[in-house]
Amino acid sequence: MKIYNSLTRKKEEFVPIKEKKIGMYVCGPTVYDEPHIGHARSAYIFDMIRRYLKHSNYEVQFVRNVTDVDDKIISKAREMVSGQLTVVSLAEASKEIAKKYLESYHRDMKLLGIGHPDSEPRATEYIPKMIGYIGDLITRGAAYIAGGDVYFDIKKAKDYGKLSNQNIENMEMGARVSPGEKKRDGLDFALWKSAKEGEPSWDSPWGKGRPGWHIECSVMSSDILGDEFDIHGGGIDLIFPHHENEIAQSEGAGKGFARLWIHNGLLTINQEKMAKSLGNFISIQDFIKEYKDADYLKLLFLNTHYRHPVDYTREKIGEAKKEKERIKIFLKTAKSNIEKYESAYNERPIFDSKLHFNNFLKDAVTCKDSLEKAMDDDFNTSQAIGEIFNMIHIGNSITMTLDDNNNDMIRYTKLKYIRDTVYDFCTRIFGLSLGDEEALCFVEKKLIEERKRFRELKDFKKADEFRQILLKDYNIILEDEKDGTVWRRKT
Ligand SMILES: [Zn+2]
Repeated sequence: MKIYNSLTRKKEEFVPIKEKKIGMYVCGPTVYDEPHIGHARSAYIFDMIRRYLKHSNYEVQFVRNVTDVDDKIISKAREMVSGQLTVVSLAEASKEIAKKYLESYHRDMKLLGIGHPDSEPRATEYIPKMIGYIGDLITRGAAYIAGGDVYFDIKKAKDYGKLSNQNIENMEMGARVSPGEKKRDGLDFALWKSAKEGEPSWDSPWGKGRPGWHIECSVMSSDILGDEFDIHGGGIDLIFPHHENEIAQSEGAGKGFARLWIHNGLLTINQEKMAKSLGNFISIQDFIKEYKDADYLKLLFLNTHYRHPVDYTREKIGEAKKEKERIKIFLKTAKSNIEKYESAYNERPIFDSKLHFNNFLKDAVTCKDSLEKAMDDDFNTSQAIGEIFNMIHIGNSITMTLDDNNNDMIRYTKLKYIRDTVYDFCTRIFGLSLGDEEALCFVEKKLIEERKRFRELKDFKKADEFRQILLKDYNIILEDEKDGTVWRRKT
C-alpha cells in the first residue's frame, strides 16, 4: 500500500512500526459552533481510511481529540455573558458552549454514520499532563517563561518548517510580536497562557492559566499511542502552524513523533471559501434537513481525491444522488434475479479451483482487483468508484438477459459475485447505506434509534424531541405498541 506523506512530499510504501498494528491520530474539532460540511469531509475521510486499513488486515487504534478550551470558545462565551444571554460566569459559559457543541458534533457524526474513534481525549482532561510536558520543555531549554506565559523557543527547534516546506528566514519575515505579547521572537508560540479575569483557568507553576492550542496534540498522542506512532492526520489548513508546532514540541521534548502525515484538502462552496460572513455556510444539519441522505455528501467526497480541494455545488449533489440511485437499482435488480434463479443454480457444483473461478469471472475479478489497487494507491476513491460502476455495468448487462438454461450458471455466479462485492465495498469501506431499499433512509433510521435509546434511558423529554423532529422534518409518525415502535409516513 502506498500513501502520500506530507512530510516527505512523496508517495511512500506504508510500513507500520509494529507489524499489523497501526496508531493513527487525527486533529478533531474545536467545539464552539455547529459542525459544517467541511468538518464532515475530514471526519469522513479519516473514517474511510480507517475502514480500508482494517479491510487490509491491519488493527487500527484511532485517536481523535476534542479541543474544549480555546480562544474561540472563550470569545463566544464572552459574547453570551456581555449580551446577558446567560447569568453564569465566563468560565461556566465557556464550559457550557464546549459541552453543547461537542454534543452537536457527536449527534452529526452519528447522523452521517461516521464511526467513533477508539479514544477521544479532551484538552481539559489533560491539563496536568500538559503542565508536566511544558515543564520538561522548560528544563530542556526548548521553552521559556515570560510573565505568566510560557513560550516555545523556535530557535531551539531543529528543521522548523520541514512539514510546511518553508525556510525559517522567510517565516521570520511574516511573523510579528503583537502588542501585549511577551514572546522574544515572532515565531515563538504559546504553550501556556496566563488567565485574564474570569477566563477558565487552572493552577500551574507559572500561575493561573490555560494551555495553548498546539501542546494538547503532542501530549495526548504520545500518552495514548506512544512517542512514535504511524499516522497523523488533519486538514491541510492545519499544516502551518499547528502541525509544524506539534513536531517542534515533540522533538523539543526529545521524543519521536508521527512517521506519516496525511492531510485532506479543503471544501469550497461554488469555488468560494465557506464562511458565515459570506452567507454560504452549510451545517451538517442544514444538509441533512434538505437532502435527507448523508450518502450524497459521501459520494461527493469519494469522487474527489482526498488530498484535493472539493467544490460543493447543488449540481454535484444532484449527480451524487443519481449515482446512489444507480447503485441501489442495480442491487435491487440483482437481488431479485439472484432469488429468481437461486433454485435453478444453487444445487449445481460451481468451480473446482480458484483459478477456474477467476477464469470464468475474469472481467468482474479484474474490476475488483483494480478497485483494491486504486485504494492501495493513496486511497484513490474516485478511481475505486469508477471500478464499482464498471462492475455494475457488467452486472446490469447480465440481469437483462439472464435465464435458467444451463449455460447461464456462470453468468449467474458472476452476478452474485458482483452484487456481493459492490454491496460489501460500498457499505463496509465507504459507509454508504444501501440496505432496506425503499424503507427508511439512513438518517431516519438513526433518528428512530436515538429516540429509542433515550426512551430506554427514561429521558422522555429528549425522546419526544426526536419524535417531533421525525414528524416535522421527515413526515414520519411513530406509534409505540406493546412489542415495539412502528412507523409510517404521514400522507
Ligand atoms: Zn492537533
